[in-house]
Amino acid sequence: MNIEVQCCGVVILALIWYFSLRQKTLKLASEKLFLITMGVNSFCLFMDILSVIAINNQDLIPGFLLALICKTYIVSLIWVGYFGLIYSHFDFRGTKEEQIRENRMYTVIVLAGTLLIYILPIQYYLEGDVVYTYGPSCTATYIFALLFVLVTLYKVGVKGREMNPKRRRAIIMWMCIWIVAAVIQFLNANLLLVGFASVLGMIILFFELENPEANLDRETGAYNAHALGEYTKQLYEKQEGFSAILVALGNNTAAENDGSSQKTDRMLRNIARYADKIKNVKVFKTMERELALLTDDEKKMWEVFHDLKSHINYLWAEATPFYVILPDSLLLRNVGELFLMLRHFRIGRRKDSAENSIILDETQIGQYKERERTEAMLRSALEEDRIEVFYQPIYSTKLNRFVSAEALVRIRDQEGAIIPPDKFIPIAERNGIISQIGQCVFDKTCAFIRKNQLKERYGIEYVEVNLSVRQCEDITLADTYIQIMKKYRLDPSCISLEITESASIKVRDNLLKNMRQLMDYGVRFALDDFGNGESNLNYIVDMPVSIVKFDRDMTQSYFSSYKAKFVMEAAMHMIQDMKLEIVSEGVETREQAEAIGALGIEYIQGYYFSRPLPGEEFLEFVAGKTY
Ligand code: C2E
Ligand code: MG
Ligand code: MG
Repeated sequence: MNIEVQCCGVVILALIWYFSLRQKTLKLASEKLFLITMGVNSFCLFMDILSVIAINNQDLIPGFLLALICKTYIVSLIWVGYFGLIYSHFDFRGTKEEQIRENRMYTVIVLAGTLLIYILPIQYYLEGDVVYTYGPSCTATYIFALLFVLVTLYKVGVKGREMNPKRRRAIIMWMCIWIVAAVIQFLNANLLLVGFASVLGMIILFFELENPEANLDRETGAYNAHALGEYTKQLYEKQEGFSAILVALGNNTAAENDGSSQKTDRMLRNIARYADKIKNVKVFKTMERELALLTDDEKKMWEVFHDLKSHINYLWAEATPFYVILPDSLLLRNVGELFLMLRHFRIGRRKDSAENSIILDETQIGQYKERERTEAMLRSALEEDRIEVFYQPIYSTKLNRFVSAEALVRIRDQEGAIIPPDKFIPIAERNGIISQIGQCVFDKTCAFIRKNQLKERYGIEYVEVNLSVRQCEDITLADTYIQIMKKYRLDPSCISLEITESASIKVRDNLLKNMRQLMDYGVRFALDDFGNGESNLNYIVDMPVSIVKFDRDMTQSYFSSYKAKFVMEAAMHMIQDMKLEIVSEGVETREQAEAIGALGIEYIQGYYFSRPLPGEEFLEFVAGKTY
C-alpha cells in the first residue's frame, strides 16, 4: 500500500508531540495555536492513511463510509490551510474589531468549503500503487486549499514587517513546500506528498518558533528573559493583571563578579528551583543574577515574598538579595514600561542602603514617571535652546546702589511658561545633565555681561553664577569655563562662582583643583547657602572663598529668634574678621533691609529689591533705581 511517506510523517509528528509536551510551558497564545495546528495536521495525516486503506479495501466497506473517510481527509486539508492562515496572523496588530472581522470571514470560508466538499460527489482511482481521489469534491478542495495558501502568502508579503521574522520565514517555507508537494502529486499520482508536506511545515514551525526549550534557561530551569517578554506582553494585551517580585543577587560590581560568582550562580539556581515548586508562581531568569517571580494574585505574592526571604535567610544567612516588588502590574501601561521600571529600580539600588526591597506602588511609579518627563523636558530644552537666565540684583548698603547680581537659571516650556529651578535642578544633578545646563547658563551670562557692558554702563561689577556639586567634581570644569570667558573676552573679575558646602565635602580634591585654576585666572568664589543645614565655620576657613552668602533661612530667623540673632552676629563678625564679604539673601521687607544694613552686612539680595528678572527687565531695573 502506498502509505510509506505518511508513516514517516506519523513518526515525525509523534516526535514533535513528544518534544512539545514533555517540557513545562507558559501556554502562550502562539503555543496554543501551534498545538491546535499540530492537532489538525495529525488528524489530516491519520485520515490520509485511513483513506488510502479504505480505497484499497473499497469492496469491503460501504460506499457512504468510503466517501465519508475520503471527504473527511480532503476537508482536513483545507482546515490545515485555514489554521496556517490563522497562525500566520498571530503578530498582526490590527484593531480587535478588524481581527474579529477577518477571522470570521476565514471561518465562513472554511465552513462553506467543508459543506461543499461533503455535498459534491467524489471518485476514486486505484491501480496498483497509484491511489487517488478526483471529481468535483476534490476540485473544490484544491480551490479552497489554494485560496488559503495564497491569502497566507499575500498577507505575509504585505504585513511581513509586523511579523516576528522567524514566524514569517517559517510560514513562507511551509506554504512553498506545500505548493511544490501539490504540484509533484498532481504530476505524479504515485507520490502522495501533500499530507507529508504539511508535516514538514510543522517541523519548521517547531524548530524556528515553538520549541518550548527556547523559552527555558538551561542553568536554572526557569523560563528565560525572552519568555518573560512574550508572556507579560500577552498579559498586558489581555489586561490581565499580575504581581511580580524581582530578586537580584549581588550588585554586579567587578569585585562581586570574581570570587563569589560561582556561589551566587548556585544560589540563584536554588532559589529558582525552590520558587518553581510554589503553585501558581512562574519563575523567569531575566538576566545574570536576577529572577522574576510572577503570580496572578497579589496575596500570593506577599506570601511568596515573606516565604522566600525567610528561606534565603535560613539557607544563606550572608546573602541579601535586593527585591523589587510590583504588587499590581496594571499600574504600568505596557510591557515596555514594565521592563524599564524593573531595570531602573534594580540598577538604582543603593549599595549603601540598608533597605533591601522596594515596592513599586503608585507613588514610586509616579515619581519615576515625573522624573522621566523632567529628563525629557531638560533634554529638549537644551536642544531647542529654551534655557534662560534671570538676574537678581544685589544691593550695596555702603554704596547705596546695585553692585552685582546673581544669575539664576529658568527653563521656558513649550507653551512659554517659566519652570523654576527647584523643579529640575535635583533631577538634572542626579543624571548629570546639570553640567550642560550649568555651562549653558555660564555661557549666556558671559555673553550678557559682554554685550551690555554691565560694569561700565550699569555699575554691576560682577555677576554670581551657581556651580553644582556635579560640576565641581569634573576636573575639566576650569578649562571649559576659562575657554568661555576667553571667547567673550571677559575680564574674569566680572565673575564670582557660587559653591555650596555639600560640594566642599563631597568632591573636595577636584573642587580645590578647579578653584585654584580659576582663581589664578582671576575668578572669585562665593560660599552659597551658608546657614542652611549643618553650617560649619570650618568650611569657610578651608575653602578659598571671597564671599559668604547667608541663606534666606538664616536671614529670616534673625528676625524671629533671639538665639539665631546671636549666632548670625557672631558668624558675621568672624567672617568679617577673615576679610570676607557677606551677602544676605532672602531679604523681603524694608525693615529687614534696614536692620541687616545696620548690623553691618554690606550686600543684600532679596525680593524687597527685586525678584530675579529676565535680562532686559534687569537692565531697565538697575538703570533706573537708587535707594
Ligand atoms: P540660590 O543659589 O540660593 O538662589 C537664591 C534663591 O532664592 C533664588 O531662587 C531666588 O529667587 C530666591 N530668593 C531670592 N530672594 C528671595 C526672597 O527675598 N525671598 C524668597 N522666598 N526667595 C528669594 P531660585 O531662582 O528659584 O533658585 C533656587 C536655587 O536653584 C538656587 O538657590 C540655586 O541653588 C539653584 N540654581 C538656580 N540657578 C542655578 C544654576 O544656574 N545652576 C545651578 N547649579 N543651580 C542653580
Ligand atoms: Mg546661589
Ligand atoms: Mg543661596
